[in-house]
Amino acid sequence: MRILLQFPEGLKQKALEHAKKLEKDGNEVFISASPTFGACDLALDEARDLKAEKLVHFGHAEFHHVDFNVEYVNYEIDAPLNLLPESLDRLREYVRIGIITTIQHIHQLEAVKKFYEDNGKKVIVGKPYGFAKMQGQILGCDIGSAATIDSKVDAFVYFGGGIFHPLGAVLATTKPFFVIEPFQGVIERFDSYRELYGKKRRAKILGSVDAKRIGILLTTKNGQHNMALATILKKRIEKAGMSAGILVANTFDFDSLNNMMEFDAFVNTACPRISIDDIDRTRKPLLSANELMEVIKIKEELGRIKA
Ligand code: SF4
Repeated sequence: MRILLQFPEGLKQKALEHAKKLEKDGNEVFISASPTFGACDLALDEARDLKAEKLVHFGHAEFHHVDFNVEYVNYEIDAPLNLLPESLDRLREYVRIGIITTIQHIHQLEAVKKFYEDNGKKVIVGKPYGFAKMQGQILGCDIGSAATIDSKVDAFVYFGGGIFHPLGAVLATTKPFFVIEPFQGVIERFDSYRELYGKKRRAKILGSVDAKRIGILLTTKNGQHNMALATILKKRIEKAGMSAGILVANTFDFDSLNNMMEFDAFVNTACPRISIDDIDRTRKPLLSANELMEVIKIKEELGRIKA
């Protein structure tokens, strides 16, 4: 069988190892070298161009249904649990603890839950409400497992590597938020990101109030493509007396966006995390759709455009 393998950046180092295993079984194997951000970003065009019969996507669970033979390999990682006893001291004033993690460690969530329960905590694991599939699982764009239990917990514990996933969750919740990073061996309090990103958000909204030309980012990535939203935003921008262009790319290159100097601001319809994580990478403000609506509302209140 002709197979295309796709790995997220952190797992690309394992690509040849997996390719060789599949080749031994008689398959013809290719490896996608394109950047991969999630299961929203399946290498379907590459697979079809190669006439592959299957795409094997590592590191993420299914995100959306596609009309192609895709096998998802979750790639579970056993992280050390040795920081849990130390975290008890940091959590001593909180009784009801919400715990969350990523697909890589979801198989360890039960052990984390049991540890805290054995140590007198009431542990709550939330349900995902969007693209995530498992209780307690979060994605960069689906923090439902945290947001749905915000009112029921005294504090959150995120267990897992990196800053990307807990950042989305901390911004969508209000309670003390602890990150147990088992690979770096640190326990960190993340609450300060709420104020930092709140300030950045206000700055980009206010920085867009005089905008006259808006660039709308529309990606061709299969799970992020949102033509309907891009079209609605274009109409809304034009109704508000500004002009708009829909800018199309698979992966947006921020140097190229910065070369598009005629635009006064950008609005994102692709991965929602772009307008959070990448806001310092464009010279002009990079807004979410909701932030654009706030800009238009402020313009109306200031009398710069008719409501
Ligand atoms: S956060 Fe962005 S890259 Fe990650 S799954 Fe969601 S849309 Fe895809």
